[in-house]
Amino acid sequence: MNIILMGPPGAGKGTQAELIKKSFPIPHISTGDMFREAVANGTAMGKEAKKYMDAGQLVPDEVTIGIVEDRLAQDDCEKGFLLDGFPRTTLQAQALDKVVAKRGKSVEVALNIFVPEDILLLRLSSRVSCTTCKAVYNTKFSAPATAGICDQCGGKLAQRNDDKEETVKSRLKVYQEQTQPLLDYYEEQKNLINIDGNRDSAEVFKDVKAILEKL
Ligand code: AMP
Repeated sequence: MNIILMGPPGAGKGTQAELIKKSFPIPHISTGDMFREAVANGTAMGKEAKKYMDAGQLVPDEVTIGIVEDRLAQDDCEKGFLLDGFPRTTLQAQALDKVVAKRGKSVEVALNIFVPEDILLLRLSSRVSCTTCKAVYNTKFSAPATAGICDQCGGKLAQRNDDKEETVKSRLKVYQEQTQPLLDYYEEQKNLINIDGNRDSAEVFKDVKAILEKL
């Protein structure tokens, strides 16, 4: 199963990836999570990536493609992968095609979760995540039982640096300019499936699951 999760920031890719992982045993590869981990660990790559992340810009292709290629070369990706937040540029999509083609495979489905922009802005401004286990909450739509505390592990909840209003605006602009054109790329390959993400995450997952069960 070689799956790509697409959609603008705040569409619910991370939430769907968590649900997919529970039903389908494939590794979840989130480039955003990989960069955040590198930032938290203070690595040279993390320091470089942080500059772009804080500005709401994309980390350069050569860096991003390099870390994804390394990750996909690991044994657990042999039976497939769930990519979340990658590819985001045409160069990244072409690089991914080359990696999977080398194994005699192809990307099977690009799931595009679409949500109107006003809803994305609302969701991103109220999104918080656990600083320990990374569980995601929304103070307006899916609040934790106790404000500021993770239901799952008791960790502290915090807003992501790049969910601040100004950064969110540039992330959405970058999405429209650099990532949205990729939808045509996958449409031409006949593996784009659009999913209405402006619903409860369990409802969205019903559709996602039905699609993946057919693969
Ligand atoms: P995300 O958690 O997917 O929203 O990613 C957070 C940030 O990490 C993005 O705003 C980018 O700065 C960076 N990033 C994540 N994935 C990519 C990618 N595929 N290409 C370039 N930058 C990325």
